[in-house]
Amino acid sequence: MMNTKNSTTEKGIQCYDCSKPIAGKKALECIDCGEFYCKDHVKANDSDHSSICFSCFRKKIHLDVTLELESQMIEAKTQLNSLKEKLKNCKKDLSNKKTTIERHQAQVKINEKTYTRKFETLEKKIEEEVQRGDNLSNTITNLNAALDDYKARENSTEQKKNSLEDEISQLEAELNGAKMENNKLKIEAQNLSDESKKYIQYISLRNTLCNSCKNRVKLLFKDEILEGNNGKESLIASVLQAERNMINQRNSLAPEMQVADKNGKTDDKACCCVI
Ligand SMILES: [Zn+2]
Ligand SMILES: [Zn+2]
Ligand SMILES: [Zn+2]
Repeated sequence: MMNTKNSTTEKGIQCYDCSKPIAGKKALECIDCGEFYCKDHVKANDSDHSSICFSCFRKKIHLDVTLELESQMIEAKTQLNSLKEKLKNCKKDLSNKKTTIERHQAQVKINEKTYTRKFETLEKKIEEEVQRGDNLSNTITNLNAALDDYKARENSTEQKKNSLEDEISQLEAELNGAKMENNKLKIEAQNLSDESKKYIQYISLRNTLCNSCKNRVKLLFKDEILEGNNGKESLIASVLQAERNMINQRNSLAPEMQVADKNGKTDDKACCCVI
């Protein structure tokens, strides 16, 4: 910009770039800086027939690029801000999600513990049930054994009862036999008693009599004494001896001769017998 329009006044029109003199009609004016240029140092715009020098064109291009870059930068910044905002939201969301996950994890841990405890309780219950089942099985076995034992004892008791009943029947039969025997013996005893009344009870009399009365009884009731004391040999012999003595006495003509018994006792003169 050192030399301005004065170059046109002194030496005619010169190209502002290469200083070449230009005929008035061929000088092209830059639409930005207003300087004149030869046709080699301007850029023609075909749409509106205007011209722009290279320097202004470069500046214009530079400005356009700068503007575009600025606009791009602003857009990028906006996008960046938007992305930052999104990132912030995402971080917040992530944080929230982390919190949620942590809460869920804590809940899962709690649930895990609860389920583990429940599972252990259940396992214990199952063990108890199995144990109870075993116990029941044992009890049933024991009860069956006790039942068998009871049945065996019942059979044994039944057999003993039958045996006792047999014994009782036998004893009853024996008792009946004994009763019959007793009755028979009673009848026999009655008969013997009746029979004995027919005979002299010499044995009962004997000790109350003196010797002479004894002899008299022996002689008077000889047949009855012999009949009633069958088997008593000494008594029978004494009766028979008394009879022989009496016969001897009659034959010896000594009627007052005393008779001595086999014990050698003499007759009691104070006898009070009334025979
Ligand atoms: Zn220019
Ligand atoms: Zn030029
Ligand atoms: Zn006498």
